Amino acid sequence: MIITCCVYKANDYLHFPEDNTLERTLITGGAGFLGSHLCDYFIAKGHYVICMDNLLTGDMDNIAHLFGNERFAFVKHDVTDFIYVEGKVDNILHFASPASPIDYLKLPIQTLKVGSLGTHKALGLAKEKGARFLLASTSECYGDPLEHPQSEDYWGNVNPVGPRSVYDEAKRFAEALTMAYHRYHGIDTRIVRIFNTYGPRMRLDDGRALPTFMAQAMRGEDITVFGDGSQTRSFCYVDDMVEGIFRLLNSSEVNPVNIGNPGEMTILEFAGKVVGLCGSRSRVVFKDLPVDDPKVRRPDITKARKILGWEPKVRLEDGLKLVLEYFRGKTA
Ligand code: UDP
Repeated sequence: MIITCCVYKANDYLHFPEDNTLERTLITGGAGFLGSHLCDYFIAKGHYVICMDNLLTGDMDNIAHLFGNERFAFVKHDVTDFIYVEGKVDNILHFASPASPIDYLKLPIQTLKVGSLGTHKALGLAKEKGARFLLASTSECYGDPLEHPQSEDYWGNVNPVGPRSVYDEAKRFAEALTMAYHRYHGIDTRIVRIFNTYGPRMRLDDGRALPTFMAQAMRGEDITVFGDGSQTRSFCYVDDMVEGIFRLLNSSEVNPVNIGNPGEMTILEFAGKVVGLCGSRSRVVFKDLPVDDPKVRRPDITKARKILGWEPKVRLEDGLKLVLEYFRGKTA
C-alpha cells in the first residue's frame, strides 16, 4: 500500500497544508478504539483531522484506511510532552489514555501522566489556538457508585488509593483542570462522561468483558465471569457514542454530560447473550472479582436527551453481531 498521508514522529516539524476554510480537529488517542471512530466521523463531516497517538495502546490498523485521504494526518507523539501543531486548530478532542482496566493496571504511571500532564498540554494548546476543547472523561469518576443510576450531579465514591485510582483519579483531575482552564482562561470546554462502549476495533486482548467473552466463546473456552456476575453494566454501541460526542462538542454545555446506553444488565446475563450469539458451547466459570469493581453502573441520560436531543439507537443484539463479524474477520 502506498501511504500518502503525512506521518510524523515525535519532535518532527509539523507542517499541514493550509486550507482555512476547513474545520481542523485534533484527536489525541486517535488510533485507539474510540479515537479512530471519531477520526472517521469527523472526516465524514468534512473536517481536517489530525490524529495524534503514541501507539501505546492504539493501533495503526485502526486508521490504515484513512491513509491517502488528504484531510487526514497522523502524528506519532506522546501528549505528555509539549504539543506543537502548526496553523489553526478549531477543536481538540482529548481521548489519549489507556482505558480498559487491564491496560491501566498494566500502565499505571502512563495512565496518571496522560490524564494529568497530557490534559495540561492539550489544554495549553487549546488556549494557544483559541480552540474548543472536549475531554473524554468516564463513568469511573463515579467509582463504585452509591447512587443509581448515575446522574452528572453525583460526586462519586472513588477509592483514591486502590488499583483503579490511577484511571479514576487521573480523569477526575482532568475534569478539574478542564474546568479551571474554562473558568480562569475562558477556554470553551466540554466534558463527556463515557459509559461502557463497544464496537469493532476493540482489542481482543484488552481484558474488557466483551472482547474477552467473545474470544472465549469463539474458541470454545470457559467464559470467565468475575465475582458472582451480579454486577451490572450498560453497553453503548460506538456509533451512538460518537454521535453523542459530536452533538456535545457542538452544544454550549460546559458541565459534564453522561453519554451511554441505559440498558442495564448483569455481567452473567451479558455473558449468556455473547455465548448465545456465538453459538458456542462454552460454560461459565467464576473468578475473583477485581478490587473496587463497581457493583452497579447505569447512566442517567436525562441531560443528554434534553440538551443534545440524543439517545442511543443501536440495539445490543445488532451491535454485538457487528462486533462478532469484526472479530471473526480479524481471527480468520
Ligand atoms: N468481567 C468479567 N470477566 C472478564 C472481564 C470482565 O466478569 O473476563 C467483568 C468485570 O469484573 C466488570 C464487568 O465485567 O464487572 C465489565 O468489565 P470491563 O472490564 O468491560 O469494564 P469496566 O466496566 O469494569 O470498566
